[in-house]
Amino acid sequence: MKDTWKELITAIENSGKQYEIDRIQKAYEIACQAHEGQKRRSGEPYIIHPLAVSIILVGLGMDSDTIVAGLLHDVVEDTPITSEDVKKIFGQDVALLVNGVTKLTNLGKRGEYVTQEERQAENVRKMLLAMAQDVRVVIIKLADRLHNMRTIQYREEQKRRDTAKETMDIYAPLAHRLGIRSVKEELEDLCLRQLDPVAYNEIEQNLELRKEERVKFLDNIKERIQERLEKENQKAHIEGRVKSVYGIYRKVYMQGKTFEEIYDVYAVRIIVDTVIECYSIFGIIHDMFRPIPNRIKDYISTPKPNMYQSLHTTVLDKEGIPFEVQIRTWDMHYTAEYGIAAHWKYKAGIGGNNKDKMEERLAWVRQLLESQKESGDVEDIVRSIKTDLAPEEVFVFTPKGDVVALPIGSTVIDFAYAIHTAVGNRMVGAKIDGRMVSLDTEVKTGMIVEIITQSNQSPNRNWLKIVKTSGARNKIRTWFKRERREENIAEGLSELEREFKRNSISLDNEKMEEFILDIAKRQHFSSRDEFLAAIGYGGVLLSRIMPRIKDDFQQKYRSSESEKSEKQIVKPKKSGVSNGVIVDGLDGCLVKFSKCCNPLPGDEIIGFVTRGYGVSIHKKDCINVTSSVDNEEQKDRWLPAHWESDVRESFKAAIDIVADDRPGLLADISIALANSRVPMHSLNARELKNHQVGINLVLSISNLEQLNNILGMFKRTAGVISAQRAYQ
Ligand code: MN
Repeated sequence: MKDTWKELITAIENSGKQYEIDRIQKAYEIACQAHEGQKRRSGEPYIIHPLAVSIILVGLGMDSDTIVAGLLHDVVEDTPITSEDVKKIFGQDVALLVNGVTKLTNLGKRGEYVTQEERQAENVRKMLLAMAQDVRVVIIKLADRLHNMRTIQYREEQKRRDTAKETMDIYAPLAHRLGIRSVKEELEDLCLRQLDPVAYNEIEQNLELRKEERVKFLDNIKERIQERLEKENQKAHIEGRVKSVYGIYRKVYMQGKTFEEIYDVYAVRIIVDTVIECYSIFGIIHDMFRPIPNRIKDYISTPKPNMYQSLHTTVLDKEGIPFEVQIRTWDMHYTAEYGIAAHWKYKAGIGGNNKDKMEERLAWVRQLLESQKESGDVEDIVRSIKTDLAPEEVFVFTPKGDVVALPIGSTVIDFAYAIHTAVGNRMVGAKIDGRMVSLDTEVKTGMIVEIITQSNQSPNRNWLKIVKTSGARNKIRTWFKRERREENIAEGLSELEREFKRNSISLDNEKMEEFILDIAKRQHFSSRDEFLAAIGYGGVLLSRIMPRIKDDFQQKYRSSESEKSEKQIVKPKKSGVSNGVIVDGLDGCLVKFSKCCNPLPGDEIIGFVTRGYGVSIHKKDCINVTSSVDNEEQKDRWLPAHWESDVRESFKAAIDIVADDRPGLLADISIALANSRVPMHSLNARELKNHQVGINLVLSISNLEQLNNILGMFKRTAGVISAQRAYQ
């Protein structure tokens, strides 16, 4: 750990920034003492972790307070030191930073959130709140996650996948949105290594194979550009770079390109002092090399939403090898590399507009929090993070030539709402490049979109199913919320009744009102009408809360039934509960799930009393049950069993898929699984006749409904012929 401390000091010395070494040293000593005796999974002393986090923070150019907080970020959580102590020694600012990080760390450890989605949604919301208060908290959290991902090989398999998934879903997009490229790319690569190790190794090997060739190629190009620029009296810094593994992965596996088709595996970056120079060098490059059509992007006049600016063009060298050239000023370069952290790193160097840039970035955070307040749906934020933060955007033009940036897949309705709420609300039609199109038409980069409005028009509820951006969705909901309360309540009630019927939930009127009020309260609504209205305008998605309503209903209904029977009949022996299964008449018995049929919550089940291994649970229609349940000798050993209403465990389920063999099929399937956060235990694929493949997956599943969703997802995957639960 002495070495790591030295490494931190060296990083500080090399940073060229003034740091308060005394305070940093003091923080190190306190952290050392506090974590004394604690070990990381790797077996190293714990203090290595906060030290590594602080080194990352110095690399990002963060200030002394942040470095101190980085060293102390786990002490309040894990050691006897309190936040009062931190405040006394290091002051209010550091204490607030440490507190902020501790709060974020504690999230999700408590069991108050039922689903993974809710937990994650709450996580993200807290993170955005912290960010709006002091963005340094989230930068420390990013550094913390980065070091944890770097050392994730010491965790067990499941934890590795979960952490990688969460990092890919939330932390990498946040780093992207904050513009911190180095952290974003490293996080993505580290995640990919966990989520798709086969592809990761393949790409890495491919890059390694061509390393020499690549270095020679880039050196040669750099030299030629340098010579030419000198002739033209242009001063510029030139560097070569290779796309990140994940960047290549996205193109190869998601867009179905071959390694050779990825033009920007090689890139040359030219950095100059002024914007004028950018454009003049752009001209020189096109004079030297032949540009590939449609590969020119001017992110200087149209910055990306995360404020990235550069000129991009892909050109061919004389052998016909394509490469990308990025041209930018130093200012743009710092923003591209360090994003919001550039505010600290180059505070002195960049001048006054830096503060504004930071404000502009954080405006996005506030806007997201604001829109969530309107809709009342925390999970919206997670959706926003996934869609609005998606690295791919399209740029669309208004008839006047203004540019609107939207996430890929956005429709003309999203465009209308992006221009102005009133434009969206009064929209009756849209024209793309002068032609009328339907409202679900997706917009593409370069299109000129004109929205046709009429003053007496209003939005349509179906639009909620069409729009892609959370901004548009929230505005439509807000409209319905404000304008149509009575209609919403009626709509909500009929939707609720429909769902109740579908789930065979029925009660007499009085009890029904009571039951609805209960649900409303649990969803944090003050009255039944508020709740129904929210269903009506789409603020509450019934499909999402239905499973829990069903559970509630069953619990209440079942317990009132048994109350009745208890009065009349002898009190039955209390049931035993284990692993989410209740076996009638057996208290706290050992339960295991039979391997022959792998029952899932939702399946009808029955228990078999084994000799010495407790009760083994089968599906009622399992062949081993049907063949033995009538057997005189074994009859008494079969006991009725049912699932607990709230099962949190997961169960193994096998799935058989038959599909047309095509490149990328396995990748699509594993991505789909990763996206739905379903852990995979094994995957076996074999060739069948007629260019088909049979794939057998064993997954961790928590209930039948989830299984059916997954099967549906597979069936929608291109090339899949059938997907079904496997029965051995
Ligand atoms: Mn930590």
